Amino acid sequence: MPKITIIGTGLIGTSMGLALQQSNLKDLMVVGTDSEHSARSAAQKMGAFDKVETRFFDAIDDADIVVLATPVMAMKDIMEVMGDGLKEGAIVTDVGSSKGVVLEWAADSLPEHVDFVGGHPMAGKETSGPAAAEATLFTDKVYCIIPGSGASEASVGDVATLVEGIGAKPYFIGTDEHDSFVAAASHLPFLLSAALVGCTSKSINWADIAQLAASGFRDITRLAAGDPVMHRDICVTNSKPIVAWIDSFIRELHDLRQVLDAEDGPDPAAVKTVFDDAFDARAKWMAGGVTLESRDFSPQRELPSFAESMGEMFLGRRILDRRDRIMRGLRGNRDR
Ligand code: NAP
Repeated sequence: MPKITIIGTGLIGTSMGLALQQSNLKDLMVVGTDSEHSARSAAQKMGAFDKVETRFFDAIDDADIVVLATPVMAMKDIMEVMGDGLKEGAIVTDVGSSKGVVLEWAADSLPEHVDFVGGHPMAGKETSGPAAAEATLFTDKVYCIIPGSGASEASVGDVATLVEGIGAKPYFIGTDEHDSFVAAASHLPFLLSAALVGCTSKSINWADIAQLAASGFRDITRLAAGDPVMHRDICVTNSKPIVAWIDSFIRELHDLRQVLDAEDGPDPAAVKTVFDDAFDARAKWMAGGVTLESRDFSPQRELPSFAESMGEMFLGRRILDRRDRIMRGLRGNRDR
């Protein structure tokens, strides 16, 4: 009977266990383990696993597939020690939100007799721990699959079967694309949520502002209630793509600021265009109208660096253009 071991019986690990118990994958042995006693016993009580092991090496012993469902940084430590306990031909996969570093750790630490196939379910919520787990968490959700170099077709196929078994939709994507796209769609939102709480709650008028904060404030700050350890690990392990998207967001906010701060006062038509564009783009996405087939392959405006965009913000475009002309002139003189 194939054995699947899930390490980390929190929200994602226990949801996966519950989904596997209800799946059409037959004759599976689903084992869970966690470093935290309370997470193990809660997952056991919920019936998510056929067996919950206290000892890590008992859990992975003879496992065909091992799923790492811990916070991302813990995966590094686990991969460093698990090698000897894995049987020949075992597959290791993970559910972590950053993929570049996890694939690097797998390549550095896992023995040659196992295959690593990275994974990331695009499903979750801000509450963590097994008590928040749901069997239907992954139903119809996209589940990214990023095979490690050297992973066999059979191993990738087994992980795809597991993903389909829990009701999710396998989505094959490259490492860099994954890390950049989730930085935009998943990581930037929780950072903005935290930044809004930071900006308002640090105000000396916060006690008064708090009286006026209602459903809009609650909705947009929901993600700031997520697990700080999970958010820390994501930021630390996917910092470069996140920084690029923060820069892009600052530019967007700066453009909006320019519209509102126009010398003769804001132009109502220009202000409305900002919201019309956002309304239309969101409505199209909500209606499922943003498909891969609808991709725009026209040449993209080259994004300026953060230093350039901050310079533009403080110095103005014309001064920067002049600086660039001067620099080009200096380079021309030097090269002559
Ligand atoms: P969670 O509810 O906090 O569960 C993680 C569990 O792993 C905790 O019980 C934790 O115990 C345990 N753990 C930590 N280090 C361990 C170790 N060395 N060995 C065994 N168990 C260990 O977190 P989660 O929300 O399920 O997230 C798990 C992973 O899924 C993260 O990598 C996250 O990036 C990814 N993910 C999360 C979401 C989401 O919305 N939550 C969505 C997609 C992907 P302690 O509490 O003692 O640390």
